Amino acid sequence: MAHVAALTFEQARAVILERVAGRAARPAVEAVPLDAACGRVLAETVAADRDYPPEPRSMRDGFALQSSSTPGELRVLGEVRAGEPCRFTVGAGEAVEIMTGASVPEGADAVVMIEHVSVQDGRLRVPQPVEPGANVSPQGSSLRAGAVAVESGTRLSPASIALLAAVGAAQVPVFAPPRVAVLPTGDELVEIGERPEPWQIRNSNSHALAAQVRRAGGVPVVLPPVRDRLEATVAALQEALKQDLVLLSGGVSAGKYDLVEQALERFGASFYFDRVLIQPGQPCVFGRAGETFFFGLPGNPASTFVCFEIFARAALDLLGGVAQPQLPFAYAVLAEPFRHRPGLTRFLPARLEDGARLHPIAWGGSGDVRALAGANCFLVADPDRPQYEAGELIRVLMAV
Ligand code: AMP
Ligand code: MG
Repeated sequence: MAHVAALTFEQARAVILERVAGRAARPAVEAVPLDAACGRVLAETVAADRDYPPEPRSMRDGFALQSSSTPGELRVLGEVRAGEPCRFTVGAGEAVEIMTGASVPEGADAVVMIEHVSVQDGRLRVPQPVEPGANVSPQGSSLRAGAVAVESGTRLSPASIALLAAVGAAQVPVFAPPRVAVLPTGDELVEIGERPEPWQIRNSNSHALAAQVRRAGGVPVVLPPVRDRLEATVAALQEALKQDLVLLSGGVSAGKYDLVEQALERFGASFYFDRVLIQPGQPCVFGRAGETFFFGLPGNPASTFVCFEIFARAALDLLGGVAQPQLPFAYAVLAEPFRHRPGLTRFLPARLEDGARLHPIAWGGSGDVRALAGANCFLVADPDRPQYEAGELIRVLMAV
């Protein structure tokens, strides 16, 4: 095949976002109860049905009053509890006892915390001045009626579920999840329930990828391992390409029996890249055959894993209606110096511990599943930075 130039990590990612966003059809929409919606992608923007909070609300237990009456001694008119309308109007020198979450009475502009006052013979002593607005959430300060609560194309988190519940979205429209074919290749593979001969290995990638697809909100369609023969690979692809996205594992390196790209050519595939300047995962392939995008993920377990997270997941997101796929990057403090040979962006297993200190994990290369499973993030080493010192900030990818 005509090889495409090797891309940097950033270029490869940009190619995926552009290609898939440009072609992804709007997925089917279904309505689900809110409690079944976490992890799904919202298909229509949901607006606030009323101001939030709907009235000025106390953030504390204490006394509602006019800040201009403080410091001083005030007359207590009564109390207002959360969940009842307020019957009082507060004037100068007056106060109403108030509970957290209760509506602030008319006339009051602040709440003083119960801990900061004393009450004697029905008189409230406020020894310190209270700032106007203290401990009061103004009406609509969080959200105005009609304003966007959660935007279409958002993958719903427990926090967005909280907001949708607050605005009364009992049923929510969500996109159908993409169906993702997982097609492992390799003569050496046996299923996990079998006892491998010493020259064989268990097919771990299908299981990891199925779990990753599920975690990313897709539906995995796992196909049986295909042997390293062209016709067998073509036949398996015929099935795989019926899904919304195809993930192959193995068979994309330069070896004599790496036949995945050749097999894809039989379907008239376009290849957008087949090498990326990353480790693990350098021979990663991305393209389209007919209407279906595919990734040829290098077979080493860490390569397969990382390439799914940094590349395939973005395609899955877009096919599932996510407006803007994001990578969970952050910065952490290196607990020890780190060196690497420049030229490649590296995603290496690491542990983020106590106070965001980052410990790289010793690993034996892309086949080291043990190192991968011991990690809770990836250290991201820039291709033009050979060396990082202990105490320096370094990028991490929070995706293990
Ligand atoms: P390949 O990309 O086909 O050259 O495979 C690279 C390495 O990954 C080889 O050591 C394979 O045995 C291993 N490998 C390939 N497929 C799988 C799989 N499904 N599960 C675990 N390891 C695999
Ligand atoms: Mg192979």
